[in-house]
Amino acid sequence: MTDAWHWKSAREIRDAVSAGAVSATQVVSDHLARIDDVDGRVDAFTQVWRDMALEMAGAVDAKIARGETPGPLAGVPVALKELFCTREGKTSCASKMLENFESPYDATVVKKLAAADAVFLGKVNMDEFAMGSSTENSAIKTTKNPWNLNCVPGGSSGGSAAAVAAGECPISLGSDTGGSIRQPACLCGCVGIKPTYGRVSRFGLVAFASSLDQIGPLTRTVEDAALTLDVICGKDPMDATSADLPATDFVGGLTGDISGLRVGLPREYFTEALNAEMREKVERAIDVYRANGAEIVDISLPCSDYAIAVYYIICTAEASANLARFDGVRYGFRHPDAKTMQEMYVLSKSAGFGPEVQRRIMLGTYVLSSGYYDAYYLKAQKARALIKKDFDAAFEKCDVIAGPTSPTPSFAFGAKSDDPLEMYLSDIYTISVNLATLPGMSLPCGLTDAGLPAGLQLIARPFDEATLLNAAHFYEKNRGFDMGRPPIA
Ligand code: GLN
Repeated sequence: MTDAWHWKSAREIRDAVSAGAVSATQVVSDHLARIDDVDGRVDAFTQVWRDMALEMAGAVDAKIARGETPGPLAGVPVALKELFCTREGKTSCASKMLENFESPYDATVVKKLAAADAVFLGKVNMDEFAMGSSTENSAIKTTKNPWNLNCVPGGSSGGSAAAVAAGECPISLGSDTGGSIRQPACLCGCVGIKPTYGRVSRFGLVAFASSLDQIGPLTRTVEDAALTLDVICGKDPMDATSADLPATDFVGGLTGDISGLRVGLPREYFTEALNAEMREKVERAIDVYRANGAEIVDISLPCSDYAIAVYYIICTAEASANLARFDGVRYGFRHPDAKTMQEMYVLSKSAGFGPEVQRRIMLGTYVLSSGYYDAYYLKAQKARALIKKDFDAAFEKCDVIAGPTSPTPSFAFGAKSDDPLEMYLSDIYTISVNLATLPGMSLPCGLTDAGLPAGLQLIARPFDEATLLNAAHFYEKNRGFDMGRPPIA
């Protein structure tokens, strides 16, 4: 064996397991040993489902022994973000409010992964209810960046990114409302894709902001992202917003041919707000397209400046409605000292939710309240439409948009946690993509002098993940350097 199974890609594992070259049990055991080895330092996992993982792997091995054709993720270990409903274990959303919540059903994506013969290793950490950009808002634990254990993994899918980067799993499922797949992928040197709104069913994803939330994978290769997406996307009768489109073959679309591709560079994304080293890495990545015959075009997204304000009105409004169900009555935590109904609400929510979640519920309630609704919520909806129009116009001139994923590399714990506005700026380049319901992706594009990953963001037209993934795959194959592995032993 030249390399441990835990550094192999999902594709390599699937092929080897399907061909009988290795058993799913062996692959999973190797990953469980890796988790034992490194997770005490990384702290990505919130639950390790040892028995369940070995049982699922055993079932895949038995299927192969019976001569049946295994699924497209045969024996591939997967870690799930804490906000996917699973009958196994807890679905805590990294909140005290749901710390003992057990879901009576599995999310559609969880069912689809299981049907594809993937194996679940357990669940991974996140910012409470997916609100944050550093995973510091988790009520469970602090996840570290495998590239530097003093730095954050990004968020809110920080556990997913850290687990993939540390070689604990080849695939982790995350969710992205304003950047929560792409920004941690960038900070941990992973590949992360947020599909078009509607591409993947959100049934069983605990809702944060329903007009923005999407599910997607974090992986170490573009091909693994395509492979996962082929498995999880599609119409679901349980999610009315899921799109009814023909079956995808994103893996088959990774042709390596980018002839005629027009790559748009938004002026607004290359300003002083962008850290100089990040800018240099992103520009070098764009040179790979330029040097290989892509047409590089200058584009403008003039409403970009409004994105953060618009997002924090819309996402908080939707969150305040979605989180109203956590009232001490139906789900999770109820404060033991409450004597009246009013006290039950106030005490349960005050003790069950962390400060960032409380801040958002209050902001959201405010922007929806009568007298402020028109001034904030309605105006934000209008601005959202203008942001979308900017992208429509840009896509007349180009096929993919390229720029940075995050304005800075990973940062030290505590560096931004006392200043919410500073933290909100982490998503300055990712948020518009959710507001415009587009597919977007982050790809590792080098390391800073301090050894921290930089990320290239690519954005495509609605439902054009095929172009997005093919362009990403092209870069990955032609970037001319290896990202290497994080210094965690
Ligand atoms: N960091 C952003 C926020 O806190 C995005 C989070 C997400 O995409 N879930 O809202």
